[in-house]
Amino acid sequence: MNFNIIYNKKLDYFPEQIDISDGEIIEKTNGFKSGNLTEFWNNAEERTTDQAENYFSWAYYIQIHRLSRENYINGTFSINTSKIGKQELLSEYETVVKEAEKINRTNFCCDMLKLQFENYCEIHDSKYDCPDKLIDYNDNNCNFSLIIHDGGSSGIRINFCPWCGEKL
Ligand SMILES: [Zn+2]
Ligand SMILES: [Zn+2]
Repeated sequence: MNFNIIYNKKLDYFPEQIDISDGEIIEKTNGFKSGNLTEFWNNAEERTTDQAENYFSWAYYIQIHRLSRENYINGTFSINTSKIGKQELLSEYETVVKEAEKINRTNFCCDMLKLQFENYCEIHDSKYDCPDKLIDYNDNNCNFSLIIHDGGSSGIRINFCPWCGEKL
């Protein structure tokens, strides 16, 4: 589906004003968690009718989450989604689609490994911050790696799946 068509429906997914006063910063892992945001994300996910819309609403959520974290730190406990520019959203959407296509091209030995790439995290902006994300995949050299959660973005290459033991 065309980005512009989805973009024009975007107000159906998330309201213009979102109250994030229930939020909390998770300092240890650079996260931000708000029940309100999560609820809006769940509703948006339910309302999407195809894959492209799903990618779009996730890209939109990423932007909303970033803005929320920023506002919360600065003592503003609500966000205005109209502050998110179309261009930013388009480039986030392209990133989400590219990532999803990479995953679709990849053969996974088991569901556990696949799940590492399919699940979206509502709390962390980066998978390097998320304690639930253990594995990274580099499409260029087809290498899987174990993410080292030390605040950076490094990993150790692995040759066998940690769940099923299959050669990767
Ligand atoms: Zn496996
Ligand atoms: Zn996370």
